[in-house]
Amino acid sequence: MHRIELAGWNLKFVLCTTYLCAMVKEDVLTLVDKGVMLPLMEEFYTIQGEGFHKGTAAYFVRIGGCDVGCHWCDVKESWNAETHPPTAVENIVENAAKYSDTIVITGGEPLTWDMGPLTSALKAKNLKIHIETSGAYALTGIWDWICLSPKKNKLPEGKIYDKAHELKVIVYNKHDLIFAEEQAAKVNGDCILYLQPEWSVRDKVTPLIVDYVMQNPKWKVSLQTHKYLNIP
Ligand code: SF4
Repeated sequence: MHRIELAGWNLKFVLCTTYLCAMVKEDVLTLVDKGVMLPLMEEFYTIQGEGFHKGTAAYFVRIGGCDVGCHWCDVKESWNAETHPPTAVENIVENAAKYSDTIVITGGEPLTWDMGPLTSALKAKNLKIHIETSGAYALTGIWDWICLSPKKNKLPEGKIYDKAHELKVIVYNKHDLIFAEEQAAKVNGDCILYLQPEWSVRDKVTPLIVDYVMQNPKWKVSLQTHKYLNIP
């Protein structure tokens, strides 16, 4: 079941292709609800800038819709799913497979939606599938790599802590280090722990993180290297 009210979904997107022309809004909502169509905000081939796979070329698929509400969010335009065209997962997969064998599903909060159909279709093409998620909703889909980036506003659903491959806590202020430890206490023993400065306050918090990691070396520093490289 989708968690975001879609009653006002803008039909201009529904009417944009011949295939969808005959579809009524309810049909589209049903398909989105099942995860066979998803509100696609953007997709692009770039270098993963953060976390364990930093430096790796990957195709990013940004799915619209998020109600977590981080005040420092740098993709606020992703929040309203209604502004992003419902797109058939086959089309997303077809595009993605042209560019890379590593696909990163991000958002918004991708787990707002059922990720089963998208990830099954990507797996059928033998692609490696990564997710960047706050974990605010139940984990669906098949994943080769789960980056859990929990947010205070809406804490992760319990099961994802056992499955996360990396925990990436965004540090906006000193208190986030306490939150990071609370979250680290919940993940599985193999999960790699990262602290990442929030970009807008990076000059202030990066020194804090550096000191903290040197004193607590179970943590690693993650930087948004794609922003330093000036790539998406
Ligand atoms: S969970 Fe991610 S997309 Fe949603 S508000 Fe927070 S930073 Fe933005």
